[in-house]
Amino acid sequence: MAALLLRRLAGAHRGRVPLGAAAAAACGGAALFYASSSPTVAHLEKGEEAGEKVALNPDKWLEFKLQEKAKVSHNSQLFRFSFDPNTKLGLDVASCLITRAPIGEEVEGRRKYVIRPYTPISDPDSKGYFDLLIKVYPDGKMSQYFASLKPGDVVEVKGPIEKLRYSPNMKKQIGMIAGGTGITPMLQVVRAILKNPDDKTQVSLIYANVSPDDILLKRELDRLASSYPNFKVYIAMISSSEPGLFFSLSMTLSLQNQVFYTVDKPSADWRGGVGFVSKDMILKGLPGPGEDSLILVCGPPGMMNHISGDKAKDRSQGEVSGRLKDLGYTAEMVYKF
Ligand SMILES: Cc1cc2nc3c(=O)[nH]c(=O)nc-3n(C[C@H](O)[C@H](O)[C@H](O)COP(=O)(O)OP(=O)(O)OC[C@H]3O[C@@H](n4cnc5c(N)ncnc54)[C@H](O)[C@@H]3O)c2cc1C
Repeated sequence: MAALLLRRLAGAHRGRVPLGAAAAAACGGAALFYASSSPTVAHLEKGEEAGEKVALNPDKWLEFKLQEKAKVSHNSQLFRFSFDPNTKLGLDVASCLITRAPIGEEVEGRRKYVIRPYTPISDPDSKGYFDLLIKVYPDGKMSQYFASLKPGDVVEVKGPIEKLRYSPNMKKQIGMIAGGTGITPMLQVVRAILKNPDDKTQVSLIYANVSPDDILLKRELDRLASSYPNFKVYIAMISSSEPGLFFSLSMTLSLQNQVFYTVDKPSADWRGGVGFVSKDMILKGLPGPGEDSLILVCGPPGMMNHISGDKAKDRSQGEVSGRLKDLGYTAEMVYKF
């Protein structure tokens, strides 16, 4: 069953070499190194919620075993980690966790680690496993470490780290703008909304990538968009020719499945349009400014700057700038992952 799901998610990979430029990444990559204490194998940890046992512990590094991995795109992989099958991970939506891996030699008897945050895309209610979708950079310390893992190997994990506390119907409309692996927190929120029949939130997602080959989990996004009338997806391209990573967006509407597709460099038979994303496009694709709307943004720094402004230096939300500010969205209407 687990293997099947992983294969279905990974099915989006079309096995072709991309057009070039690698830019799309998850929001605000954090590079942390430090020496720390020994891990414990992940069994049962007592969570805060009414004595329910959960697998994660926010104060302790725990080892999770890699069950299997699958290629999702030319440079991204899906990793499934397992733990006690009667236990949930212990993650609220939307949260991430942090992972660590030993690097280099021990210094003065102390082990050095590289630490990076990742956002599980599996259902937080799933028992016994969680999934990470990770883009592997050619010189990426942690992502290369992940890529080198084999089933049975373990990774040390701590968490959860809460980002946005989502509650059903907290807003009537949620708009999302994601770039590359910035899709992971969006998927967490989307799944929480769609699996709850009492949650009437309308969700629309603009998903930007460098090339069609970089689009992650397209099949899964298609499936969700065609199954749930309150979820719409627009797939956009981050222009590889622009150093500032401007969105290059065109839209074509497929009435059958309510998915909007765009390309940066259209093929001869492309039936959609091509062009930079404009204020007009955001207005057409996402809910307008208002107290019933929330716009979530997650992507590489250039995209964040262009759309919403990056987070503040202290990693607080900071001010809203960019296209969203131009369009009248205020800090209360925007969340930067
Ligand atoms: C809250 C949070 C959640 C995250 N969730 C995910 C997730 O679910 N999946 C995922 O793949 N990543 C996610 N990330 C990013 C992840 O934490 C790492 O930053 C990423 O995997 C790169 O780490 P690395 O050690 O492999 O690369 P590093 O050794 O840190 O960097 C090596 C090279 O990789 C490239 N690179 C690294 N980060 C970026 C970037 N952000 N944009 C452009 N180029 C970059 C650069 O060329 C850099 O020189 C998340 C980040 C945050 C802050």
